[in-house]
Amino acid sequence: MSILSSSLARIKPSPTIAVTNLARELKAQGRDVIGLGAGEPDFDTPEHIKEAAIAAIRRGETKYTAVDGTPELKQAIALKFKRENGIEYRTDEITVGTGGKQVLYNAFMATVEPGDEVVIPAPYWVSYPDMVLLAGGTPRFVSCPEQTGFKLRPEDLEEAISPKTKWVVLNSPNNPTGAAYSAEELKALTDVLVRHPHVWLMTDDMYEHLVYDGFTFATAVQVEPSLRSRTLTVNGVSKAYAMTGWRIGYAGGPKELIKAIGVIQSQSTSNPSSISQAAAVAALTGDLSFLPERNAVYKERRDLVVDMLNRAPGLRCHRPEGAFYVYPSCAGVIGRRTAKGVTLATSEDFARELLNEEGVAVVHGSAFGLDPYFRISYATSTALLEEACARIIRFCERLA
Ligand code: PLP
Repeated sequence: MSILSSSLARIKPSPTIAVTNLARELKAQGRDVIGLGAGEPDFDTPEHIKEAAIAAIRRGETKYTAVDGTPELKQAIALKFKRENGIEYRTDEITVGTGGKQVLYNAFMATVEPGDEVVIPAPYWVSYPDMVLLAGGTPRFVSCPEQTGFKLRPEDLEEAISPKTKWVVLNSPNNPTGAAYSAEELKALTDVLVRHPHVWLMTDDMYEHLVYDGFTFATAVQVEPSLRSRTLTVNGVSKAYAMTGWRIGYAGGPKELIKAIGVIQSQSTSNPSSISQAAAVAALTGDLSFLPERNAVYKERRDLVVDMLNRAPGLRCHRPEGAFYVYPSCAGVIGRRTAKGVTLATSEDFARELLNEEGVAVVHGSAFGLDPYFRISYATSTALLEEACARIIRFCERLA
């Protein structure tokens, strides 16, 4: 009998982490590899946030804290929700976890039972389906094709909802496509949810601050306050504040659910790092002027990547509203042969041969549930992006 539980057979390791690790290994072996797989800012954590962490250590804030967040951090989060999203959450309606990932995981674990369905628009962040499967639930994917801007249409949401639906997951700006819903687009979706009172909404707003071209971010409870009693609004400091390694994520939601998330956390990890929590207080309450400066750089990189990829024969790249990803179609190269004689039958073949022949690491679209596409993270230096795109163009030009 295997030592491994049967629940493990339902899931797989994160494909994006696998690509990042492979690129890292090849680099360590001396290969000239440009990694465009990782979903993390290349910018450093701002200095005032680091200083706050150092000060917390010096004050001796190095002990266990309240399991689901310090009162100071919950207060800072409550203020953030009010200031930026117009939502009033009390501190007992807020939970803090070790990254948004843990908050999402705990929320599924606390609520999903065998037979429950979770509606997940595809393409999706790689972890949602596996978290649902691990909790014993069934992901119900809804395809959001490029023609609709990779966005969920209200009629498709309506059709996906069944009596078994427990959650609908919305992620805007989206990983992997960068697509973001305007307030009007969001309202059309929340109107559907208003008609289905048994369905809960999980909104993943991790990329809230990363939007371009004057786009205004909106979240569901803001556009439809009546959904407040059955929505979990998830956010975190990883992306906007360049704090991926600090591992702080949070959510606002109904007290009963927030309490349940805390119970799971109390029996698994206990509190997130006390030092990281102090840093997150500084992030949420401190100077935000670095955000527009960094966004201007991201926007420039997005435009560079989109323009260059659209010059690669067989590729087609949209120009998304936010996050730091593009999700180009590689349909035009499927069936073609590489200079080394390998036929590209899938996006996985494309990604593997691109890495083999040109040393550029991207993530194949099948990992995100909509193919044939691939994901590029442009959170890397402009010079490296330019070189990577030049290599991608060369790879595509050589295909027979
Ligand atoms: N949600 C989305 C859409 C993400 O892309 C990520 C990270 O890649 C997360 C949640 C989790 O972020 P973290 O656990 O670093 O807060």
